[in-house]
Amino acid sequence: MADTTAPQITLAAETIVSIDPATGEPVGEIDVTSVDRIPQMVRDARFAQRSWSALSFEQRAEILKSAVPRLVEEAPRIGELLTREMGKPKPQGVGEATYCAEGITDEVDAVIEALLPEVLEDEHTNTTLRFDPYGVVAAITPWNFPLLMVFQSVIPALVAGNTVLLKPSEETPLVAREWATVLNEALPPNVLQLVIGDERQGRALVESPIDLVVFTGSREAGKHILREASGGLKRVILELGGKDPMVVLDGADLDRAAAFAARNSFRNAGQVCVSTERIYVESSIADAFTEKLVERADGMKQGPGMEDGVEVGPMINRRQKDHVLRQIEAAIKDGATVFHGGEDGGEGNFVPLTVLGDLRHDMDIMSEETFGPVACVMSVDHADDAVRLANDSRFGLAASVWGDPERAEAVAARMNAGMIGVNRGCGGAEGSPWVGAMESGYGWHSGKYGHRQFCQIRTISRGRSKGEG
Ligand code: NAD
Repeated sequence: MADTTAPQITLAAETIVSIDPATGEPVGEIDVTSVDRIPQMVRDARFAQRSWSALSFEQRAEILKSAVPRLVEEAPRIGELLTREMGKPKPQGVGEATYCAEGITDEVDAVIEALLPEVLEDEHTNTTLRFDPYGVVAAITPWNFPLLMVFQSVIPALVAGNTVLLKPSEETPLVAREWATVLNEALPPNVLQLVIGDERQGRALVESPIDLVVFTGSREAGKHILREASGGLKRVILELGGKDPMVVLDGADLDRAAAFAARNSFRNAGQVCVSTERIYVESSIADAFTEKLVERADGMKQGPGMEDGVEVGPMINRRQKDHVLRQIEAAIKDGATVFHGGEDGGEGNFVPLTVLGDLRHDMDIMSEETFGPVACVMSVDHADDAVRLANDSRFGLAASVWGDPERAEAVAARMNAGMIGVNRGCGGAEGSPWVGAMESGYGWHSGKYGHRQFCQIRTISRGRSKGEG
């Protein structure tokens, strides 16, 4: 079997060989953007931004929407490539590609609705609030949702009248290139440019004279970007990692709670920013809950994403696999009980679906992001302990609370996270922002409040009575 340490960046040839994480086989090759080229690309983006921002919202919308039929046509091919490059099951890869094609129409309309000027008025003054583009945006994205994260960064930026330099993850450059190439068939030159590379290209982009960095990725890289951007007071939107807690209270519907725990711990092999990574269960129901969770884990099929019926794929690369196994091994050494999985998945980058119990809060697996298919169950005496432990984290992306609705709602209000679900996951109603608290984020995206972050708000005021300045 080929080396599964994806991706292979061959410095001499300046190419990235993208690797299928399930098989270790190469998926394709792509030229790396020389760091020296980035300043000229930013100049080109700035020049293109003048005429792009001079178009009306309707004109930009028409251009973007004109790409939809071609993207929809290509979605099965792009989705399959996504699966081969990143590992998630094919229906999910194709689903992501389809959403990032069909979804453009609604997203464009929602962004425009958020950015139309607003009027404020008092006795003396009439003010127009304008949501104007910043200029040139650097969109830097991760590999775990290699199209969705691109879509959420690029579409609002473009609708607002910015031009974009997109740097996709070095793990998934091929799928991003395919999507951007089809979109670029509709866009004027240099409105959307691709920067291919790793951290070096990301750093160079942040250091270049761009106006806004829209970053989704790890907390460490986010902190670096915030520091780098501070010199020029560049605007930043950072969507970072998580260690999401789930609280299960006595009185919860245990079947539903266990089904959610399995789905949200193992989906995308746990490589989801809002994965459930810690489960605090009131002791009276801990055993029953764990039993149901193990049953669910047992029933989920793991394997290469291209195989029929597979629900969970591999880790993105060897490094990520080693990180997850290290956390599991350390927890077992410190007394954790393995209810399911827990061992090395053998060849390839597979980590078996793992359910652990008898955990302590000071274990690495209970405090640092795992990003793997591991459900960690900790029994607590009372909801108050669950809240205290859940909030004892530097992360604060999402959380969920399961139980009798009134009690669960009261517990949810005490959780320190950006997005909290009561008897459900964290996703909000249409128009809700995607937002992390504490070290899980800085700024937010999506929904009216998120879309406005791609803009400089300006107020233009005039007097209401004749001749008043
Ligand atoms: P990563 O931080 O390693 O890389 C993300 C992107 O940033 C890549 O394109 C990478 O090349 C680039 N990069 C890395 N260091 C950089 C630097 N110093 N300056 C500029 N660019 C840099 O993250 P990853 O491994 O690709 O993704 C996994 C992480 O992303 C997890 O922590 C996950 O929780 C997080 N994530 C968060 C959200 C969210 O919405 N909050 C969504 C998806 C993923």
